[in-house]
Amino acid sequence: MSRVLVASDLDRTLIYSARALALTDPDERAPRLLCVEVYEGAPLSYVTETAAALLTELAARTVFVPTTTRTPAQYARVHLPGPPPRFAICANGGRILVDGESDPDWSRRVERAVAADSAPLAAMRERLLDGADPEWLHKERVAEDLFAYLVVDRARLPADWLDETAAWAHAHGWTVSLQGRKLYAVPRALTKSAALNEVAARTGATLTLAAGDSLLDADLLTAADRAWRPGHGELADQDWRHEGVTALAEAGVAAGEEIVRRFLKAAAGE
Ligand SMILES: [Mg+2]
Repeated sequence: MSRVLVASDLDRTLIYSARALALTDPDERAPRLLCVEVYEGAPLSYVTETAAALLTELAARTVFVPTTTRTPAQYARVHLPGPPPRFAICANGGRILVDGESDPDWSRRVERAVAADSAPLAAMRERLLDGADPEWLHKERVAEDLFAYLVVDRARLPADWLDETAAWAHAHGWTVSLQGRKLYAVPRALTKSAALNEVAARTGATLTLAAGDSLLDADLLTAADRAWRPGHGELADQDWRHEGVTALAEAGVAAGEEIVRRFLKAAAGE
């Protein structure tokens, strides 16, 4: 029996904040939207109503695994249509949730792999804050004691600071990724693909499908049998391409809808 596993990034791949919707039609033809995340009492993330219906179908036909850099707490705010997924990958692969509970064995394995490969988190944070200016730095956060991110004013972020920080990170086993207003620094061994392989093994998946928009998704896309990326985001900006990965023309929330459509077709053997 074929068992299809769908591992998809969430933010700016399946779900979109108001500023990331990139609606192109005139307002009177804009798609109706479903809010799938509330933050501090206000709506934050959306899918199109069509995507919502397709996601329900996808959850019924495949093992659907949300695969996100969000922490488990941030992920818990997202309520996609369909039953709650059995598995979810959070913290960029640092956590595997099984029925909503973090798997402690997986966390330990990842923490060991990270410690063996990268400079300590404290050193990376120090480097991130070195030369950071309150003019463009709004917040600094640590996620699950695994990685760090900054919330920045992207328009004011100096390109040379970013280049130098990314170079330092690279030399010390870290990856820097700029997504919207967030600048992530993630240890190289902390990957969505490692967690995907683990969940694929546990579920006996015979076909793996993936989608993602950012640099932190590249390994996920290449690890899957087939994958898609939207026409916006870090990977699109770099015209990133890879065998087995389809670069979609659609951008914004329309890309999210198209990605779910492609998952369903591929799961049906098309
Ligand atoms: Mg994303």
